[in-house]
Amino acid sequence: MSDAGRITAAKHLLEATSVSKSFGEFRAVAGADLTVNEGDIIGLIGPNGAGKSTFFNCLAGETPPSGGRIVFDGKDLTRASPEAHARAGIGRTFQVPTTFADMSVLHNVMVGAFLRHPHRNDARDKARAVLELTGLRADQPARSLGTPGRKRLEIARALATEPRLLLLDESLAGLTPNELQDAIALVRRIHQGGVTIVIVEHIMEVIMTLTGHVLVFNQGHVIASGTPDSVVREPAVIEAYLGRSHRRPQATGSQVDR
Ligand code: ADP
Ligand code: MG
Repeated sequence: MSDAGRITAAKHLLEATSVSKSFGEFRAVAGADLTVNEGDIIGLIGPNGAGKSTFFNCLAGETPPSGGRIVFDGKDLTRASPEAHARAGIGRTFQVPTTFADMSVLHNVMVGAFLRHPHRNDARDKARAVLELTGLRADQPARSLGTPGRKRLEIARALATEPRLLLLDESLAGLTPNELQDAIALVRRIHQGGVTIVIVEHIMEVIMTLTGHVLVFNQGHVIASGTPDSVVREPAVIEAYLGRSHRRPQATGSQVDR
């Protein structure tokens, strides 16, 4: 187990309080709370449709929340633009990669790097450094990457914005066992480089290996919080997974099906 998820000195990097997001009558996010301290790696799990991606959209400014408050590093970002969120230091990946297929890997990552490096050469240097960390080839066209490569490219583009908080939305899904180990190592390197992480993932091995603390999302809010081992035993969590016909956590780490 890593030092992930540890509670650091009391400074909250992110404080999301009673965040909600409605689509018409439907409340996809229904009063969600999340506190993240600098240095944390927090796992966010929950059945499909629980509202995890929509919550990330609210935290990253992609979707203005219908209610609640999002404070990052002491700044109220509740209704700020995605760019303002990125500038403040929140980076995110999308569950469905949004890479620019016609551009090279390098240029895709430069799109992120331009946020803090307006000059082309500086942006290129930054992008190359990130590519070295993430293990992608710069001159490859993005369209030649498979899904795992595109997910890695999403991570690289987000990193190029130099986030203090990185929101990973199922970035490790669909990998072979070897690719998965590489990706876990990459997330760990990113964390060791000083980036705080919240990771949505169904693969319990990822959650167990990387995080010491998980939140369980169901029907738009957090229904449980604690160590991975403890939350998967809570009756409300078992019911959330069994009560719906969706994906359960994949029990490669063995704890879940007990
Ligand atoms: P998760 O990431 O936990 O699987 P999502 O946040 O993607 O869940 O979705 C939560 C719920 O909100 C789902 O029922 C989904 O269909 C609904 N939803 C998400 N985005 C929209 C949208 N733009 N319009 C209407 N409903 C949406
Ligand atoms: Mg999702």
